[in-house]
Amino acid sequence: MRIDYHSHFIERVHFGPKFTRDWDEQCGLGAWPEVSAEDFERAMEPFDKVLVFGITAHAMGIHTPHEHVARLVARNPAKYIGFMALDPSRPDAIREMERGVHEFGFRGIKLYPIMSVYNPADPAFHPFYRRAVELGLPVMMHMGASPVSQGPLKYSLPLLVDDLAIAFPELRVIIAHLGHPWQRETALVIRKHAHVYADISGLWHRPWQGYEAMIVCLEWGVTHKLLFGSDYPLWEPSNAIESLRRLNEQVQGTPLPKIPGEVIEEILERDVLSELGIIT
Ligand SMILES: [Zn+2]
Repeated sequence: MRIDYHSHFIERVHFGPKFTRDWDEQCGLGAWPEVSAEDFERAMEPFDKVLVFGITAHAMGIHTPHEHVARLVARNPAKYIGFMALDPSRPDAIREMERGVHEFGFRGIKLYPIMSVYNPADPAFHPFYRRAVELGLPVMMHMGASPVSQGPLKYSLPLLVDDLAIAFPELRVIIAHLGHPWQRETALVIRKHAHVYADISGLWHRPWQGYEAMIVCLEWGVTHKLLFGSDYPLWEPSNAIESLRRLNEQVQGTPLPKIPGEVIEEILERDVLSELGIIT
């Protein structure tokens, strides 16, 4: 089973005027490629299943409506697994979660603490996570760097997921991007907690760190908790898979350890949908 655990279906208009201006200034115009449903379908041809979501971070004026992702999922419900982008710092967050499940059939939640400017382990959000556990919804969290100057990096530290998993051992969590550049901390968190996983999307973007992160995960014995994610449309899936397979090239002809090919292929074939409670 080939699964892309991290993909976006977002329109630039969801980013709002202020964020779009900042983003374009920092990353150049077109930093977020506009994609149609047809583009999405074409890019996702290599996969049997795809987790897809937008972004909601009210502090930055960013919001992907449930309707937008649900429309894509409706084109191929056997393949697409919709997650809802929520912001627990909003008073209506639990209602939006329930609406997402009951009206739109979403199977999980995507959070973006750094851009929403909140500590994801804040006990004030415990009712939110309690409801997610009751509804059997896994939570994917963007953890790790963001170039957004107003987003506090401290809210992106993977160790916050450790606090959350201690409070909610039944909550299924995916730490996005292996928590880059804190991949080492992520390895320790996913090692400790049975229901916490990490996706490796963007790992190949900084190849040395990506290589090093894979070696760290091998040494800690946690590669079985790693999930493939393309981060489309920021990366074309075919390109992402290729770049992942080429991480070892940097150390070819050196005594440095190599990432075993089978570990990479296992990540590409990993199916934890039932462990995440998505397929029951
Ligand atoms: Zn992403």
